[in-house]
Amino acid sequence: MKAYALIMAGGAGQRMAAEIPKQFLLLHGRPILMHTLSAFYQYSPAVKLVLVIPRQQQELWQKLCIQYSFDLPHLLAYGGKERFDSVRNGLQKIAGSEGFDAENSLIAVHDAVRPLVGVHLIETCYQTAERYGSAIPVTPLVDSLRRRDGEWSLAENRLDFCAVQTPQVFNAKALLEAYRQPYHPSFTDDASVMEAAGHRIRLVEGHRKNSKITVPEDLLLAEYWLKQLK
Ligand code: C5P
Repeated sequence: MKAYALIMAGGAGQRMAAEIPKQFLLLHGRPILMHTLSAFYQYSPAVKLVLVIPRQQQELWQKLCIQYSFDLPHLLAYGGKERFDSVRNGLQKIAGSEGFDAENSLIAVHDAVRPLVGVHLIETCYQTAERYGSAIPVTPLVDSLRRRDGEWSLAENRLDFCAVQTPQVFNAKALLEAYRQPYHPSFTDDASVMEAAGHRIRLVEGHRKNSKITVPEDLLLAEYWLKQLK
């Protein structure tokens, strides 16, 4: 099986309230994005990497690659309005790449703002998807869970639920077909798109250090994790 990875950095990242988009903020002296791409390269240099970034950030990215002597091979695709559009653009890039064989490929879709994804988790996701057609990492909920009922609420059993991370890995042919559906606001990740196309989603154990960098304090936590890993 050939392995591909779409690294999703096509969003505006407005929650970070920083002047530069969050995927370019420095983590341990290097832009976040470089850590994320390196994680997949470290898992296997054979993984074909496609980075999805907004068109207007392409120049900045190329400058940063020179500045930080970052030379891991990767293709670029452009971000779209919704994450769904960005993934679609990335998939088109993969489908049009030389030697692409949808029947015998796996595609991982990973949020660029999860730079601490471990090699072991990447490996587990690819291996599980090879066997079952899909694999997504999940973590247990730490807070209690309640269903809203107007101004009131009802308790839910949190053991019945889990929080979803990336990389989400799927059989390439099935994923390309699923992304032919029209966009629906309930598509919050790739698993929801696959599910709407009739596929079952297989779970693997995620990891807390693989959480998404969304607000400035998440960056401090990521620095902490990195120091623990060194
Ligand atoms: O907005 P959210 O935090 O859910 O975004 C998750 C990932 O998807 C981010 O890495 C972001 O850059 C990416 N994204 C994208 N295109 C969009 C919106 C989000 O690639 N239009």
